[in-house]
Amino acid sequence: MDFIDLRSDTVTHPTPEMREAMAKAVVGDDVLNEDPTINRLQELAASRMGKEAGLFVPSGTMGNLLAVLTHCQRGDEVLMGTLGHTFLFEGGGISALGGVFPHLLPNQPDGTLSLSDIEAGIRPNDIHQPPTKLLILENTHNRCGGVALTKDYTDQAADLVHSYGMLMHIDGARIFNAATALKIDPAKLVERSDSVTFCLSKGLCAPVGSVLCGNHDFIQKARRIRKMLGGGMRQAGVLAAAGIIAIEKMSARLEDDHRRAKTLAEGLAMIQNIRFEMGMPQTNMVFPSLAENCIFTAAEVAQRLSVDGIKVGVVGEKKFRMVTHYWINDEDINKVIQSFSRAMG
Ligand SMILES: *Cc1c(COP(=O)(O)O)cnc(C)c1O
Repeated sequence: MDFIDLRSDTVTHPTPEMREAMAKAVVGDDVLNEDPTINRLQELAASRMGKEAGLFVPSGTMGNLLAVLTHCQRGDEVLMGTLGHTFLFEGGGISALGGVFPHLLPNQPDGTLSLSDIEAGIRPNDIHQPPTKLLILENTHNRCGGVALTKDYTDQAADLVHSYGMLMHIDGARIFNAATALKIDPAKLVERSDSVTFCLSKGLCAPVGSVLCGNHDFIQKARRIRKMLGGGMRQAGVLAAAGIIAIEKMSARLEDDHRRAKTLAEGLAMIQNIRFEMGMPQTNMVFPSLAENCIFTAAEVAQRLSVDGIKVGVVGEKKFRMVTHYWINDEDINKVIQSFSRAMG
């Protein structure tokens, strides 16, 4: 890559091994269930998530949308966090396309929704009120700093909503990062959820795609809705071939990204006027901010970094977001720390 691009792990390119697998992929018409590479990817994804079946989708947004449209009827409501990706960054698709009502709960700094808020948010059976059908958790939680929600918490949230006859979906765009940080099998982490979406792109480096996983019946219904949304792809096994490598190989190396995120944060923390209000990184996301009295804005510092070929995310007047990934090495991390140090001097 030409730049040291830390804006997101979405900027990752496929690895040479992926490009080779893509070129050689055996394909078929997936709308007819005849793409062997997609079928293999879906089986692999389902087995890694401990679910019965998987469905390859073009994006995480479509995976989450399909989960809601499959679990809910028009007029149902979904509990989700005010800082959740499903609320902030998915175009309001559940309402625009599904007539589903978002019911917002505050995210705690650790990315969770408190169990008491969840319970208080579940509506009684009353004709004045929409039926509360689904809870969405996000793991790792992006806006809360790339924090990992534990199995203990996830199980408790699932048990709670199940006791009310509701369902739970996990937006696990970065579930492998969470599992790596928690040193747990991802299947264990999502064990009690009714469905989970994870991204093959981002830190796992596939160029395109996510997989939605759940039981057979759920996936069969989701498959129908995916077609309706225009997400029935044909010889997309060329993409799934990269996805298989993403799961088999790339999910096993995320510890390197987490270690580099920590090194980056520790280096930046030594620079005057840089703070870590959200705490030090747990996974691959680093959220440094500038002290109140710092004369620069984050945008000004980002501009100075760009002269050194470094791209960072600016997510507030004084706040950055930086995400480590496969294409960022140890030397890049040192360069970024040095460049920050100069930019702030
Ligand atoms: C990236 C992301 C998604 C899905 O995004 P797409 O760009 O549609 O693949 C969903 N949830 C979270 C938390 C994400 O970071």
